[in-house]
Amino acid sequence: MTSVDSQSSGPAGWDYSPAPERTRVPIKDEYGLFIDGAFRAPKSRRRFETINPATEEVLSRVSEAGPADVDAAVEAAKAAGPGWARLKPAERAKFLFRLARRIQERSRELAVLETMDGGKPIKESRDVALPLVAQHFFYHAGWADKLSYAFPGRTPKPVGVCGQIIPWNFPLLMAAWKLAPALACGNTCVLKPAETTSLTALHLAEILQEIELPPGVVNIVTGAGETGAAIVDHPDVKKVAFTGSTEVGKHLARSVAGTGKKLTLELGGKSPNIVFADAAIDQAVEGIVSSIWFNQGHVCCAGSRLFVQESIADEVIDKLAHRMRSLRVGDPLDKNTDVGAINSSTQLKTIERYIDAGGDEGAILHEVNDQPLPEKGFWCRPCFFTGVQPSHVIAREEIFGPVLSVMTFRTPEEALSRANNTPYGLAAGVWTNTGSKIFEIARKLDAGVVWCNTYNKFDASSPFGGFKESGFGREGGLQGLRAYVRL
Ligand code: NAD
Ligand code: MN
Repeated sequence: MTSVDSQSSGPAGWDYSPAPERTRVPIKDEYGLFIDGAFRAPKSRRRFETINPATEEVLSRVSEAGPADVDAAVEAAKAAGPGWARLKPAERAKFLFRLARRIQERSRELAVLETMDGGKPIKESRDVALPLVAQHFFYHAGWADKLSYAFPGRTPKPVGVCGQIIPWNFPLLMAAWKLAPALACGNTCVLKPAETTSLTALHLAEILQEIELPPGVVNIVTGAGETGAAIVDHPDVKKVAFTGSTEVGKHLARSVAGTGKKLTLELGGKSPNIVFADAAIDQAVEGIVSSIWFNQGHVCCAGSRLFVQESIADEVIDKLAHRMRSLRVGDPLDKNTDVGAINSSTQLKTIERYIDAGGDEGAILHEVNDQPLPEKGFWCRPCFFTGVQPSHVIAREEIFGPVLSVMTFRTPEEALSRANNTPYGLAAGVWTNTGSKIFEIARKLDAGVVWCNTYNKFDASSPFGGFKESGFGREGGLQGLRAYVRL
C-alpha cells in the first residue's frame, strides 16, 4: 500500500478513487443580490464571507441585504406580480418545467457547490437533494394549470408577494419547497437563504436568468437574521414562509400577528424512532443510522430519540455500535463519506455543549468511531447515549447534530406515551413486522409524518410539516398549495 492520507482512506486502510464530482465549480469572488432579474451590488455596501466548513477556506463574498435592498426586492416582486398572475397558467408551467430541466442539467455543479458551502456529503447532495429539487419543480409545474382541480368549486387567486426564509441544512431543497408552489400558484417571491449557505441559491438565480423568467418574479437576497426580519416586516409582503428554529419561528409568529399576512412555519423537532421486538432488526438499524447520522444529524426530522423494545435492546445497541464504527467521517466531496462537516463552528459548539450535558446528567456516551478527522474544518463523530432519562436535556431538546439518545420501553402504550412526551411533533418512525401495530401506533403519534419500516423518505406529492412546536402548514402535495392561494 502506498500513501494513505486520512481523508481518502477507507476503514480498512485502502485508497478510494476520488469522486468524479470533484468537478471545478465556477465560484465567483463576489455575488450581488438578485433583484428584478439582475445581480446588483448591495445598497448597504456590506458583504460577508461564506466558507467551506470542511476546510474553513473562504469560498466567496456574499452581499448583505439592508433595508433599502429588501425594499427594492419587494418592490420588484410587487411590480412583477400582476403580469405573472395574468400569464396563462400553462405558460407559468412552462417556466417551471424549464427550470426543473435546467436544474437537472446543472445538477452536478449544484451538488458540488451545495456540499462545498454547507458541508454535507456529496452522495447526499448528488443522490438525494438535487433529484428532489428537480422533482419539486416538475411536480409543481404540473399543478400550475390544474389549480381549479386542487380546489374544486373555488377560484384560487395568488396571495401576492411571498417572503421566504430558509435554513442551511438543505439549502437548495428548501428553496425549491418554497419557490415551486408559490410560482405555480401565480405569486412572486423574495427568498432569503441562510447566511452560511447562500451559494446554491445564487446559482439558482443564474438559472432563473437562463430560463428567462420574467424579472422580479423571483428575487434572492442574502444576509442573516436582520435581513430576514426586514422581509417579514415589510408591509407589501403578504405571505411569510419560514423554515428554521422554533425560537425564531415563535418570534416571527408574534411579529406577523394582526397584520393579515399568511404564515407557515416549519420548525424544529425531536422525533421518535420506535423499534418493536418483532421488527427486521438489521433493516431497522440501517434506518436508525440514516435517520440521525447521515447529513451529520442536520435534519429537522432526524430520529434523535430512539425507543427500543427492552427484549432486543442489547442486540440493537451492539449492532448500532458496530455500524457506527464503520461510518466514514470526513471530506464531504469524497463519494464514500457518510458523515460530512458540521455546518458552522457555532453549530459545532452547540452540539458539543449537548454532548457534555449528556455526560454531566449521567447518560453514557458511546463514541466508537475512531477514524482520524481532518485537521481543519468542523467535525463531530457520530455518537449515541444510553442510560438516558426522559428528563435529560439530550432527550428533550433538539441538538441538530449526529447525537442519538437511546431509550427502552416494554409495551406499545409506554412507547407511545414516551414518544409523544415532547413539545415537538414533526416526524416519527415505527419499525415492526405487524401491520396492525403500524396503523395503531401511527394513528396515535403526534407527528406530521410517520415513516413505517423506513425513514427520511420524501416526495414532492407528499405533504410535510409539523404539529405542536414543530410549526404549522404543510409543504408539498396538494396540501402545500393551500398556503399560496386565496380562495
Ligand atoms: P434559524 O432559525 O436561526 O435560521 C433560519 C433562517 O432564519 C436563516 O435564514 C436565518 O438567517 C433566518 N433568521 C434568523 N433570525 C431571523 C429573524 N429574527 N427574522 C427573520 N429571519 C431570521 O435556524 P438555523 O440555525 O439556521 O437552522 C436550524 C433550525 O432549523 C433547526 O432548529 C431545525 O430544526 C430547523 N429546521 C426545520 C425544518 C423543517 O422543515 N421543520 C427544516 C430545516 C431546519
Ligand atoms: Mn458556507
